[in-house]
Amino acid sequence: MTLFADVLLPLSVSTPYRYAVPDALTPRVVPGTRVLVPVRRRRAVGVVSGIGSEPPAAGTQREILAAPDADPALSAELLRLGEWLSSYYGCPSGLSLRALLPGALWGGRGARVAGPAERTERTITLVKALPSLLERERAFSRSPKRRAAYEALEALGGTAPQRHLVSQLKLGTQVLNGLVREGLARIDRVAAPRDPFADLAVAPPPALTADQRRAMDAILGTPPEMPVLIEGVTGSGKTLVYLEMLRTVVESGRGAILLVPEIALTPQTVARVRGVFGDAVAVLHSGLSDAERADAWRAVRQGKKRVVVGARSAIFAPVQRLAVIVVDEEHEPSYKQGTAPRYHARDVALARGRVEGARVLFGSATPSLELLHQVDHGSVRRVELPRRVGDRPLPPVDLVDLRSAERVPEAGPVTWSEPLDRAVREALERKEQVILLLNRRGFASFLQCPTCGTVPGCPRCAISLTVHATPSALRCHYCGHEEELGPTCKSCGATTRRMRGLGTQQLEHFLGSRFPAARIARMDLDTTSTKWSHHRILERVARGEVDILLGTQMIAKGLDFPGVTVVGVVDADTGLHLPDFRAAERTFQLVAQVAGRAGRGPAGGRVVVQTRSPDHHALRAAAAHSIAAFAAAELPLRTLPHPPYPPHVGLIRFVALGKTEDAAAARATRVADWLRRANGERLGGGLTILGPAPCPIARLHGRWRWHVLIKSAEPRLLGRVMRAWRGQGRSAALIVADRDPVSLL
Ligand code: ADP
Ligand code: ZN
Repeated sequence: MTLFADVLLPLSVSTPYRYAVPDALTPRVVPGTRVLVPVRRRRAVGVVSGIGSEPPAAGTQREILAAPDADPALSAELLRLGEWLSSYYGCPSGLSLRALLPGALWGGRGARVAGPAERTERTITLVKALPSLLERERAFSRSPKRRAAYEALEALGGTAPQRHLVSQLKLGTQVLNGLVREGLARIDRVAAPRDPFADLAVAPPPALTADQRRAMDAILGTPPEMPVLIEGVTGSGKTLVYLEMLRTVVESGRGAILLVPEIALTPQTVARVRGVFGDAVAVLHSGLSDAERADAWRAVRQGKKRVVVGARSAIFAPVQRLAVIVVDEEHEPSYKQGTAPRYHARDVALARGRVEGARVLFGSATPSLELLHQVDHGSVRRVELPRRVGDRPLPPVDLVDLRSAERVPEAGPVTWSEPLDRAVREALERKEQVILLLNRRGFASFLQCPTCGTVPGCPRCAISLTVHATPSALRCHYCGHEEELGPTCKSCGATTRRMRGLGTQQLEHFLGSRFPAARIARMDLDTTSTKWSHHRILERVARGEVDILLGTQMIAKGLDFPGVTVVGVVDADTGLHLPDFRAAERTFQLVAQVAGRAGRGPAGGRVVVQTRSPDHHALRAAAAHSIAAFAAAELPLRTLPHPPYPPHVGLIRFVALGKTEDAAAARATRVADWLRRANGERLGGGLTILGPAPCPIARLHGRWRWHVLIKSAEPRLLGRVMRAWRGQGRSAALIVADRDPVSLL
């Protein structure tokens, strides 16, 4: 009897195609197997979703061409997880399956033989420091371009590949050679960078503290099907508890996944895991080529690696006998995927834990209100680590009111108060390290003509252009559009320009002149665009070669540098007033997390937060390092008589896109009509439907955007909406359906 297999292709389709299974392949072709099948005139890789004896309803019978793997690529559990993804997020089954396997296994780029790897590259390194402004003026009096190149290199930590400087920063080779001729820089040929995680390992502390032991006992005493939140203050040693948990699991021959928000930003966590598990751990980082990623995937699938560390997508790693999933810094928005399936790794972790019977462990000093809600309802158990390791105190936090605080006169437009200045100066004098957070990259947020008021905006996005200094340009932070920073206003021709809104480049510039002896490193998207640049910067900080580390939210994640005694938040208000219900929560998390970087060593520490809203509950709670205080103030603001928001209700956001505003509006209106009809006819009015209305960012990448929001206290109804939506099979290129969105902009 001929068998038939249903094969799903990694496309925006929900229905599998049915193929005949050739006799020779019968033993291999089971659900989860990767197969090569003919599709029209091409061949494609798909995954078997079911086997039966029923031939296809119509058309010619076609056969599976090959089944390349000895074992099915997807276990029964991962196939079930794929179904859950598709049904929860309303996404075609083909697309959720695609998320489960690395691209190369779908016949992606890595499947082809890659060309020979680049072996060496030219790097440029500064060899002469020009610490004082005076020396700088003298050295570059006739060559502003050379100065720009010098300062760009400085911003990159003193060394960078020439390729990056020329192609990304648009610096001329002439100018770079000029720096070399002047004896300011040197050119080297160095081996192309390799995986910096390869030999990264530090042994963890030998013994658990009494608090950590109690936390471990509490976790082990919890039934494995009950997820646990480790709510531990910053510096309480959560990582060691994860490692201990992983160790017990691996010792018993089972496997584990540790999720971190972003691998590049958490080298210390990776190093600690390597210290315990050595080669038994697969580190899935963004620097892997497609082929390397596929290799790592195979090693995990074959059980050669028992532990996987990675960002969001590592939640799908085919770990054998999976027994524990740890989600570190559970509150991080980077756990949400931005394309279909638009999953949140925290929720996928729970779903995967259920299908595999694995324990799920979350950790954070600033847990999300969604997770706290689950704790309150008894579906997640909380285990606390209320003290720092070694009983070190949490650093005191001063909220400096920018409306009344004395400013440093030399700072000009830079918001720099006397208290912050003093704290930084004293730390530098004591040879301690400083971290400064300013969550806005570029030189200034925008340019405004003082004569006519015009603010240059992006022609493709409804967003003003950000002023950049090195290299000088106006740039759109959403689509990358770039314009020259001309000398005059484009609409009225006036020759003066006013910059508004402080960015990290300007802050760095100011700090350079304010603290000329200090070694400064800046970490934001502009200084970390090369491979391993995060790594290089953080390593210099760890080695004590940096006195002031300044940067955007990147520097607020999990860093553990005992030399840091002062943390400054230069402007705590950058995100506080965004039109998004999570604006306060994000601000609380950011400020509390960066504050937690201070005082991790014996010298103690303190934190200075500059704000114009010192009474805001998000900042007050952050100053007290208290998630409880924040939740107590914020939760009532998200329920009646205020408009209800998560965690009290679930949320789905539909974003309709259009070449014209009318097209986007019409599309959004049709979605809203469909939802209102369904709500009245089938869902018993259990949904609240808002909109259609223009999105706060009304145009992006040249497309207009309108959205419709639906809320419901009943997840079941939202699930029905998602499945009905999936059944409609509408093009995701025109309407995006996003369940549990992390941003409403
Ligand atoms: P968290 O992630 O909770 O902020 P970490 O896991 O980074 O905290 O730990 C903070 C610091 O305490 C680290 O430097 C770590 O090495 C140290 N530490 C953790 N546990 C112990 C322990 N049991 N004994 C000694 N030092 C510890
Ligand atoms: Zn743009």
